[in-house]
Amino acid sequence: MLLPRTLFPATIAGSLPKPAWLAEPDRLWAPWRLSGAELAAAQRDATLLALKLQEDCGIDILTDGEQSRQHFVHGFLAAIDGIDFGQRVEMSIRKGRYKAMVPSVTGPLRLRGRAHAVEARIARTHTARWLKFTLPGPMTIVDTIADRHYGDRAEMALAFAAVLNEEALALQADGIDIIQFDEPAFNVYPDEVKEWGIAALERAAHGLACTTAVHICYGYGIEANIAWKQTLGGEWRQYEDIFPALAASRIDQVAIECRNSRVPLELLGLLKGKEVQAGVIDVASETVETAEDVANLIGEIMRYVPRERILPTTNCGMAPMRRETAEAKLMALGAGARLARERFGPHGA
Ligand code: ZN
Repeated sequence: MLLPRTLFPATIAGSLPKPAWLAEPDRLWAPWRLSGAELAAAQRDATLLALKLQEDCGIDILTDGEQSRQHFVHGFLAAIDGIDFGQRVEMSIRKGRYKAMVPSVTGPLRLRGRAHAVEARIARTHTARWLKFTLPGPMTIVDTIADRHYGDRAEMALAFAAVLNEEALALQADGIDIIQFDEPAFNVYPDEVKEWGIAALERAAHGLACTTAVHICYGYGIEANIAWKQTLGGEWRQYEDIFPALAASRIDQVAIECRNSRVPLELLGLLKGKEVQAGVIDVASETVETAEDVANLIGEIMRYVPRERILPTTNCGMAPMRRETAEAKLMALGAGARLARERFGPHGA
């Protein structure tokens, strides 16, 4: 595998909160504070800060903190022809968990130049560490946009996958080491995942020589998700259904939440042969983990995943979090990975 030599390389799911001078704090879909060239310069500055913060916290595989996009799905869609952003329609998404005002697909999809070249190149220029870049997965995009052209979810997913693939190959050429597709929709539609979700994902990753990852999750720590999670019962076994299919896929890494989640850790054993980005930091709670908490959880995960295949991470993106909390949690992630290395590494127990 292509992992850095270090044991338990730490990474974040993808996003970090934005500074208050860039966007309104503590919320998703926060409006930008600036526009035009001023906005572009502010996004660049925020990306540099996000990199510096991660380095200082001992994170090994960095992201741009998603400082240049308003939302993890629509930041990408903005660069695609065939989408009408003018007339947003209300759509019930994630099987009715929440409603969102979404744009519509109105014609054949085509990447207009590049979606994320600027922030990827800034990040590459300003850190020598490994870089991961996140893109929305095809199924999650399809579940977050209205269709007035394709008339079939699987077909539209493959069309998005082709466009994602074009951007992913270009990101690889920009020097990105891991391309991660975010597929929170994967635990909402297990049958469709097996029918066409994984195929669309593989299409999006086609031809990539860099490491590939898929982040599946139960969503951010926002109200609608917390309420939904309470309906899922004492044990979340949704993954049992799709992990074997993911294990058979060509994607290298699977990212899932482990901290304060009700996913039984034994299910990780179904991801045979995969590297696991294991969420050891809860993003739905203001309580800051200790390094000890993180190392202990890594120890438990090692019962099901070989240690050299574990990458500690955050359960999900931190975009809607308070900035101070997010920073404290990053610090705990880095320190916890270090502690786990001492404890479980070649010189540890
Ligand atoms: Zn997530």
